[in-house]
Amino acid sequence: MKILVVEDEPKLAEYLRKALTENSYVVDVAHDGIDGHHLAGTGNYDLVLLDIMLPGRDGLSLLRELRRSKPVPVLMLTARDSVEDRVTGLQAGADDYLVKPFALSELLARVQALLRRGIMATGERNPTLLGLADLELDLLRRKATRAGHRLDLTAKEFTLLTLLMRRHGQVLSRTTLAEQVWDMNFDSNTNVVEVAVRRLRAKIDDPFEKKLLHTVRGMGYVLEERGA
Ligand code: CA
Repeated sequence: MKILVVEDEPKLAEYLRKALTENSYVVDVAHDGIDGHHLAGTGNYDLVLLDIMLPGRDGLSLLRELRRSKPVPVLMLTARDSVEDRVTGLQAGADDYLVKPFALSELLARVQALLRRGIMATGERNPTLLGLADLELDLLRRKATRAGHRLDLTAKEFTLLTLLMRRHGQVLSRTTLAEQVWDMNFDSNTNVVEVAVRRLRAKIDDPFEKKLLHTVRGMGYVLEERGA
C-alpha cells in the first residue's frame, strides 16, 4: 500500500513518514503543494494525506484537481477546526478529515478505513485476503500465517510478500521488487532485495516442507506452488 503525504511542517512530515512506514506502508513525502501535485499526478498511490495550508499551492485546490483526474482516497490534515472549513474540504472531495493535533492511533484507524473502502471499490482486483497453498495474508489486519502459524514479518517483508502473492506464478525481477517495495531505482550493486528475500524465505519457507518462494536464476523470484 502506497501513501503520499503532502505536509510542509518538517517535523510532522517526518513523524508521519516514520509512523506509516513502521506500519508497513510505502510512503512518499512532498513538502509543498507543487511537489505534492507533481507526485500525486505521477505516482500510483492508494491514499493521499493532504495538508490544507501549504506553500506553493494550497491543499484544497490540489484536492479539486486530484478529484477530476484520480479516484484515490484523500484524508485532509489541517490545523483549522471550523465547521465551515471542514465542509469546504468535504465538498471539494476529501474522503475524511483529521484536525491537528491528532493521535497516531486515530490517524492509523482512519487510514485503514479509507484503504478498506478503496479496496472494496476496486473489488476483485485488490482482494484483502490473499492465499497460496497454506500461506495466507490478511492485508487489513496486516497478518501473515502459514499452516495456521502466525509469521512475524517486518514491514518491508510484509510488503514484499504482498507483491509476490498478488502476482504469484509470475517471475518478478529484482528491479521490479526494488521499485515497488523500496520505491527506489535499482542500483545493480546493492543486494538489498536478495537479503530481504533470504530473510523472508527463512520465515515463510524454511520451517515448512513445501517451498513456495523460488529463485529463477538470472531473472528474479516467483512465489508458486510446485508439484511434489
Ligand atoms: Ca501546513
